[in-house]
Amino acid sequence: MSRLVVVSNRVGPVKDAARAGGLAVALVDALRAQGGLWYGWSGKTNRRAADSASIESAENLDLATVDLTPDEHTDYYNGFANRCLWPLFHYRIDLTAFDRRYYEGYRRVNAKFARVLFPLLRADDTIWVHDYHFLAFGNELRHMGAEQPIGFFLHIPFPAREVLATLPHHDAMVRGLFAYDVLGFQTERDCERFRDYAVREAGGVVNGDHVHCFGRTVAVHAFPIGIDTEGFAQIAAEDKEARRQYEKVTKGLAGRCQIVGVDRLDYTKGIAERFQAYERLLKEYPETHRQVSYLQIAATSRGEVAEYRQMREELDGLSGHINGTYGDFDWTPLRYLNKPMPRRALAGLYRASKIGLVTPLRDGMNLVAKEYVAAQDPEDPGVLILSRFAGASYQMPEAIIVNPYDTKEVADALQIARYMSLQERRERFEALMVRLKTEDVARWRDDFLSTLAAVRRRVPAAS
Ligand code: UDP
Repeated sequence: MSRLVVVSNRVGPVKDAARAGGLAVALVDALRAQGGLWYGWSGKTNRRAADSASIESAENLDLATVDLTPDEHTDYYNGFANRCLWPLFHYRIDLTAFDRRYYEGYRRVNAKFARVLFPLLRADDTIWVHDYHFLAFGNELRHMGAEQPIGFFLHIPFPAREVLATLPHHDAMVRGLFAYDVLGFQTERDCERFRDYAVREAGGVVNGDHVHCFGRTVAVHAFPIGIDTEGFAQIAAEDKEARRQYEKVTKGLAGRCQIVGVDRLDYTKGIAERFQAYERLLKEYPETHRQVSYLQIAATSRGEVAEYRQMREELDGLSGHINGTYGDFDWTPLRYLNKPMPRRALAGLYRASKIGLVTPLRDGMNLVAKEYVAAQDPEDPGVLILSRFAGASYQMPEAIIVNPYDTKEVADALQIARYMSLQERRERFEALMVRLKTEDVARWRDDFLSTLAAVRRRVPAAS
């Protein structure tokens, strides 16, 4: 069996993978089974960061990490990846900060990662590259002469052609993707958008699962990422910390219907629109007063990026306004927390919440939607309200699917969820769980790797 090399911006955790969640466990399991190497950024910046990796070995698995200089971190990570690609691929052209310096830094850092990895590679390795930080990485490796199979999985959405075309150098970015052998996207819609770009923008030709363009061929497939469904359901039902959280929350609710939202604090998650929809519920359905309680966990992320600071101010204002207008001395309609919650406690919180409100404006997949369902009590399950713009919506049609921009539709969906019969809740839950169990994270990993194992070919590097 060939060695597996996983490349992702952040490496690990390995020892405590379970704490980080299904993806880390799935990757660690595959790396251990095949004797693997996990390679990426160390998470550290260092003024004298050299072009070399530190390597640690543990139980049939090597970790290789590279430091970045502060300038590299600013241009590649905060700049091009998080202020340009992230908003653009999530359709926020208005927030996309294109700066040639960021772009050049990104290209330079992708080349640096490739340069450092190349001497560590073996001829029979299989290389699996993850996410938008490394769009240009495969092509850099090919330039150095790498002939191993290289697959790429994009965790975030692939944007519509006309949105992508607003990015200067979009053609070079997409051309670089053709250095990979397999391109994996979250949904069939993302694949369609990629093919549409290749055909209409770059004169490519589609032949079944293959796209020919720039003199190369790449296999394009949807691999919807899953969670460890059985494991998460078991934590929600049996784990001590999950039970403790469940009991604490249930007691505090005193019979009220809890609506829960759990997100990284990010403008793609539609939290402001969600607050507005909740306000609309309180305004248009006064019988909800004192009967509902909305808890929004919004774990702060990317606090150093200005757009994230502004969003935080907006949400502070909205939550203050809702509580000031509708709250009373004995009822806080909205509790909004900027602290992350550990996964085991989250499992208990999901189970104690009658409604899971997951309304991103755009999301590659959204694992919270899947976790919320997996954590439910099968005898008395809660209801998931899910944005049609989350990749998860294609696998979860039994959720109440909403347009997150339509605050009236979301407010009405909350009312429908509140009054849904036990029988209907069970039917929807059971149908959702059948798919979540088969299409779990192990299946995602195995499907990707078997597709990559099936293509062994050599490609010349793009100029
Ligand atoms: N999460 C967590 N604690 C929190 C908030 C989120 O552990 O306080 C986890 C959540 O359980 C999920 C992940 O972070 O597994 C978020 O994944 P998702 O696909 O929903 O969104 P992303 O943050 O990747 O855009």
